[in-house]
Amino acid sequence: MMSNRKPGLETLSVHAGTPPDPTTGARQMPIYQTSSFVFDDADHAASLFNLQLPGFIYSRLSNPTVSALEERIAALEDGLGATATASGHAAQILALFPLMHPGDEIIAANKLYGGSINQMGISYKKFGWNASFVDPDDPENFRRAITDKTKAIFIESLANPGGVVVDIEAVAAIAHDTGIPLIVDNTMATPYLCKPFEHGADIIVHSTTKFLSGNGSSIGGCVVDSGKFNFAGRDKYPSLSQPAPEYHGLTFSETFGDLAYTMHSHAVGLRDLGACQSPINAWITLLGIETLALRMERHCENAAKVASYLETHPAIDWVSYAGLESSKYFDLRKRYMPRGAGGVFTFGLKGGYDAGVTLVDRCELLSHLANIGDTRSLILHPASTTHRQLTEEQLKAAGAGPEVIRISIGIETVEDIISDLEQALTGLELATVAE
Ligand SMILES: *Cc1c(COP(=O)(O)O)cnc(C)c1O
Repeated sequence: MMSNRKPGLETLSVHAGTPPDPTTGARQMPIYQTSSFVFDDADHAASLFNLQLPGFIYSRLSNPTVSALEERIAALEDGLGATATASGHAAQILALFPLMHPGDEIIAANKLYGGSINQMGISYKKFGWNASFVDPDDPENFRRAITDKTKAIFIESLANPGGVVVDIEAVAAIAHDTGIPLIVDNTMATPYLCKPFEHGADIIVHSTTKFLSGNGSSIGGCVVDSGKFNFAGRDKYPSLSQPAPEYHGLTFSETFGDLAYTMHSHAVGLRDLGACQSPINAWITLLGIETLALRMERHCENAAKVASYLETHPAIDWVSYAGLESSKYFDLRKRYMPRGAGGVFTFGLKGGYDAGVTLVDRCELLSHLANIGDTRSLILHPASTTHRQLTEEQLKAAGAGPEVIRISIGIETVEDIISDLEQALTGLELATVAE
C-alpha cells in the first residue's frame, strides 16, 4: 500500500507515469512503437474521435509511452497535464497555439536561449504573432510593454547560457494583474532546481533534449499546464472559451475544466501542427529522468568547482555563474534555486576571439559542440559558431561577444574537467585583448 505521503522528486523521477505493465507485468515502461490503435467497434471509435472517451487513436495525438513521459514530467512540475513534443522549439509553439491568433503578441525576456529569440522574433511573424523583448532584470519592464493584444509573458527561470535568474514571482504578479498567463522555460533549471508553479507560473515548457533526457541522445520537448489559469468565459482566449466547430460545438474550457489547455494541445495542437514526440525518444527521456536528481546534484557541484577555478585563472576576465557570489543574480538564485545554480555558464577570455578559438580546439575531454545538459562536459565559442552571422555589436547585445565561452559541465571526475581546461588555457593569458 502506498502511504499518504506526497512522494518526493527523486521518487517521482523513477515511478511517476510508469506502473508495472498491466498486460505483461513488464517493470520497465514498454516502447509502444505503433502508429495506430485498434478500435473495439464503430461506437468506440466515434466516442474517441468526439473526445467523449479517453484512449488512443493515432500516435500523432497520443501514445502510451509518450503519455507516460507526459505524466512523469507533469508530476515533477506539480502540473495537472502535459503535452510532449518533437523538440523544445515545438513545445514553445504548442504552448502558444491555444492562446494566440494573428495580430496577438507575447512579451518575452530579452535574455533567452538564442534559438528562442530567433524563433519568436523572426518566424512567429509568419503566423501573424508578434514578440517584443524586454530586459527581465526589472520586472516592471513587462508591465510597461503589455498591450490589449498581449496574450502571454515568456521567460526562462535560469536563462541559457549566462546564468541570468528572473524574479518569477514579480513577473507572475504582473501577468496576473493583466489577466494573462506566465510561461516559464524551465529547461536549464529543471524541476530539481526550480518549481515555477510554486512561484505563480501558469505554463512551463521544456527542451527535454537537455538535462531531462540528460545523455545528449534525443531531441524532445514538453508543455506542462498548472491547470490554475481560468480560460472559461474569457473572450481573450476564444480557442479555449468558445465552441470548436470540428468537435460539434464542444467548448474546451466547459467540457474539460482545468484540463482544457492540455486537451486542446493534444486534440488541436498536435493534431494540426503534428510536432509529436516519437515513442522511442519518450522512452529514452523517461530512462534519463530516472537519474535526474543524481545528475543535477553532480552537475551543480562540478560546475561550482569549475567556475571557482576559472574565476581565479589569469587568462580569464570574468565568469558569469549564478552560483558565484560575484554574480548579480546570486541572491535571486538562492531564493528560486536553493539547491544549486545548474551546470551551464559563460566566461570571458582576456585574449578575445583568437583565444576562444584556440581554447575550444585544444580541449580534449570537453567536446566542442552546440548542446547543453549532457553527462559529458561540453564547450562552445558562440562567436565562431552559433552566432557567427552576427556583427560585433549584435554579438555583444546577445551576450556572445568575441571573448565569450559557453560551457556545460558534465558529471565526470571534476579534477579531470579542470585538468583539461588547465592544459587548454596554458599560455592564453599572454594573448592581448582583442578590442
Ligand atoms: C535548447 C533549448 C531550447 C530549444 O530546444 P530544442 O530541443 O533544441 O528544440 C529552448 N529553450 C532552452 C532554454 C534551450 O536550452
